[in-house]
Amino acid sequence: MDFLNFKKDSLTMSKHQAESSFMREQVGSLILLKQKATVAMALSLANDKNLALKVKNKKIEQDYYKQLIEKLTRETLYKNIWIQLFDKDINTLYRSWSHKRGDNLSNIRADLIRAVEDKKVIYSISAAKFNLSLKAIVPLFIKDEFVGIIEVISHFNSISKELKKSDIDSVVVLGKEYKEQLEEPFTKIFMGDYYVANFDAPKELMKRMQRDGVESYFIKGCKIVDDRIVTSYELKDPDGTLFGHYVMFKKINSLSNLDLDYFMFKWLTFGLVFVMSVAIIVSMMLFFANRRQKEYFHNIIDSSTNIVMVNDTKNIIDVNKIFFKYFSRYKTLQEFKKNHRSISDFFVAEDGYLQEDIGGVNWIKYVVKNPKETHKIKLDIFGKVYCFSVGAAKLLSTSEHYSVILSDITEQEIYKKELELLSITDELTNTGNRRYFERKLKEEISRASRYNYPFSLVMFDIDHFKVVNDKYGHAIGDEVLKEYSKLVNSNLREADVLCRVGGEEFMIILPYTSKDAAKEIAQKLRVAIESHKKVISITMSFGVVEFEEGDDFESIYKRVDDALYSAKRNGRNMVVVQ
Ligand code: GH3
Ligand code: MG
Ligand code: MG
Repeated sequence: MDFLNFKKDSLTMSKHQAESSFMREQVGSLILLKQKATVAMALSLANDKNLALKVKNKKIEQDYYKQLIEKLTRETLYKNIWIQLFDKDINTLYRSWSHKRGDNLSNIRADLIRAVEDKKVIYSISAAKFNLSLKAIVPLFIKDEFVGIIEVISHFNSISKELKKSDIDSVVVLGKEYKEQLEEPFTKIFMGDYYVANFDAPKELMKRMQRDGVESYFIKGCKIVDDRIVTSYELKDPDGTLFGHYVMFKKINSLSNLDLDYFMFKWLTFGLVFVMSVAIIVSMMLFFANRRQKEYFHNIIDSSTNIVMVNDTKNIIDVNKIFFKYFSRYKTLQEFKKNHRSISDFFVAEDGYLQEDIGGVNWIKYVVKNPKETHKIKLDIFGKVYCFSVGAAKLLSTSEHYSVILSDITEQEIYKKELELLSITDELTNTGNRRYFERKLKEEISRASRYNYPFSLVMFDIDHFKVVNDKYGHAIGDEVLKEYSKLVNSNLREADVLCRVGGEEFMIILPYTSKDAAKEIAQKLRVAIESHKKVISITMSFGVVEFEEGDDFESIYKRVDDALYSAKRNGRNMVVVQ
């Protein structure tokens, strides 16, 4: 029937939207993670005192990083990594991938100049001569003397490999205006003028993209192409210039899981891995002796799209930039602390979200103690409500310092609510559906059995509805269903639960209601229906029962169904209580 298809369609659409949002989130975080790992790598290499000395003396052996690169390739996700060293005038001293050196890049690479002038770590995604890559540039110092630069370059292959684990295929596409710039394209894969930056881009998907026009795959939302859900993530350089697109494909049949917690679960488990890696960086930051290194690490944390806080058990010690995007009323942490003890001042008390104190344990400690659970908080920040997933880690086993990472999941929570609502609502009549009815009746039975209070159940069905459909058509039949469910609903109390459990069969759960009171309610409804006469006149028959000790779902259902059946048999348009 049409309404059934419609309901399925909007549920499916919501699921696809939620899934595509998750895909974009996932690739965004993976890119960030890889970027951080690249910076962390560059920083730890830069920390090698021997290196700075060798760079200063311009004496680097040919195979300087050979073993390191081999080890990384063997043991980590770094299958492709390139290292480059420059002297203080930006002449190359070493390239891990070639014997060429001595050339001066100061006219070619603005980012290197910037690193020298600002004495800052620079990390970015950008398009260069060979490829689309992730880069970290770290200036080298001996005491305060600038001696040169180390650059670590990595690549998108490991990201597409990670995504593959979640059944996502990737095509990483460089904007066609960059084609000229690619002197030696690393993957040698092209779709017309578009360079593809990952080796494992499936040929078949690239064919589809060319068939439909590559640009039509650069979409922020999602679309369905053949059997796949497609979305893309924009790749921008540090100045915000768009230079490429990360296009993702996921087979629709791999989304068949109907569990509502599915998305959240996936997101949160993924988030946790991310949180742990940030926690490592934070702890390095806090306990790094060198002030300059500390600044570098702070830069990394600032680039995070998550709120990162360093806390002791009572106070916030440090936060990253993003914190002030949310708490925009304050410019500094001092200002914030003048007005608030902690972010728990903003917690919304709601089921499923952490509170400041959980059974005598501070929420941060609670998160640390229960790392396998998923934790969420809801914040009302001066009238705007946000949901975050929370990860926390103790920074050192000996200290009482914690890193707390808050990932904004407001969008996911909205999707989840929508899905939840859709999955329990009957689209045609906007009442509860059968699934909701079953859940609610079971809840009511267990409550009534435990606390020994009454409730009643009313079942009703339109009389001779087949005739209505035959005479006026199915569309008018549907209008009748809508109009009269609205009427019934307007005659019920807030706590009563109205559900459409079959084609034209309804149930009402009446909490705290005896059989006699329920009978009266049903009579009132019967009369209201009979005299309503909108769309077309109809009548309905009602069965009424009260919960009895020992009743379970099946037994009470059968009794109310029997009561309705006798109302039908005895002439319809009546209420029968059993
Ligand atoms: P009774 O008084 O015995 O209930 O007679 P009835 O004709 O209503 O018989 P029954 O309840 O067995 O028939 C249900 C009919 O309701 C069958 C179908 O044509 C119609 N129906 C069920 N679901 C829908 C729906 O979603 N829309 C429309 N328009 N009609 C529906
Ligand atoms: Mg009927
Ligand atoms: Mg029926």
